[in-house]
Amino acid sequence: MLDPEITKCWDDKLRANRKKAIMNLRKNNLKFWFSKEKEDLATIIRGIKEKSTRELKNLVPIAIKNLKKNGFKVHYAGDIDEVKNILLGLVKGSRLVCKSKSVVMRELRVSETLQKHGIRVVETDIGDRLLQLEGGTPSHQHHPSAHLTLRDIRSLLETENEQLPEHADVLAGKISDTVRKHILNCDWGIVGCNAISADEGSLFTVENEGNIRWLTTIPKKLMVVTSIDKIVKSYYEAMMVCYATGYFAMSKLTTYIDVITGPSKSGDIQMKFSYGVYGPREIHVILVDNGRMNCIEKGFGELLYCINCSACLDICPVYEEVGESFGVKHALARGLMLTAWLEGLEAIGDKLGMCLTCNLCFSICPSKINTGKLLPEFRRRIVNGSA
Ligand code: SF4
Ligand code: SF4
Repeated sequence: MLDPEITKCWDDKLRANRKKAIMNLRKNNLKFWFSKEKEDLATIIRGIKEKSTRELKNLVPIAIKNLKKNGFKVHYAGDIDEVKNILLGLVKGSRLVCKSKSVVMRELRVSETLQKHGIRVVETDIGDRLLQLEGGTPSHQHHPSAHLTLRDIRSLLETENEQLPEHADVLAGKISDTVRKHILNCDWGIVGCNAISADEGSLFTVENEGNIRWLTTIPKKLMVVTSIDKIVKSYYEAMMVCYATGYFAMSKLTTYIDVITGPSKSGDIQMKFSYGVYGPREIHVILVDNGRMNCIEKGFGELLYCINCSACLDICPVYEEVGESFGVKHALARGLMLTAWLEGLEAIGDKLGMCLTCNLCFSICPSKINTGKLLPEFRRRIVNGSA
């Protein structure tokens, strides 16, 4: 009998609309994925990630020192329990938190922890917000609401006093109007980040919607929850990671790449810095290991080269059929192996058996993560009891 989680993701509507979304993404991206330009960019990204993972032990203290020098309050968390303690300590007494989409925050169950402790969480990414209103299952990691039709969305947003047209711009505008009001009134903005440059102590974010820009500038207090594998050495390397993320996701630049190098400040009054001018005065960074160093030490550091571009999700034949159930917190065979290193083998059950080892994911990955090579070695470790 099929796992109920898989059956849920196989719901006819969910599956049909996920396939439609994936077909569109493939159509738009295929030319780039198999171009010389892609190969050249992937060579650069693979080099950056290989080097930064190899040197991560040294880069972590450099990043922490330089982030602190820039005025960030840095909290290092070894595991998920430490993250919870830091998180709950920071938000104590808060009512409302607005957050962005982040794979690391999903791994760490940030929304669930906050809600369990009575704090209201408003998702600001349009897809995540729709899913929050629907209370449904995501149809795709990066396009969680791909299964909702215009009619579905309209009925989620309409009230007795307000009729809405089935028009994407109007419906997206309706959501962002409400979310903006929440951001203006929230106690904390919480975001993830795409890269950290150790030498400069800067945080880099990539997005299209502009919700991250709002979250990193409007609330008085900002929290960045991220993991150590986001650290690279230089500003240039971090910028290349951000550039590649957009290109591999959509064959073009993302609308926004933002760099944050400390709290907002002005030196215009008496030539002394005043902090928290237009942006937040307080920025806390929770930097998480949660098993990553162990993964590197066990010889599986390549799993951490991922820049979360989502290209592999849009080419994997299994993900096309079963979506998010092909993964636990992190998607596909790479994600399952990673989760096993982070949380133990029992966390992934027998889901690795879903992988066809076709290695299509490797063929387009900007970090050239070779699932076809890693998986047999991982299985060998399971058999000899060292995974
Ligand atoms: S593993 Fe997938 S999401 Fe990660 S970098 Fe490679 S293609 Fe992108
Ligand atoms: S190797 Fe596995 S994870 Fe990669 S594309 Fe094929 S089925 Fe998907």
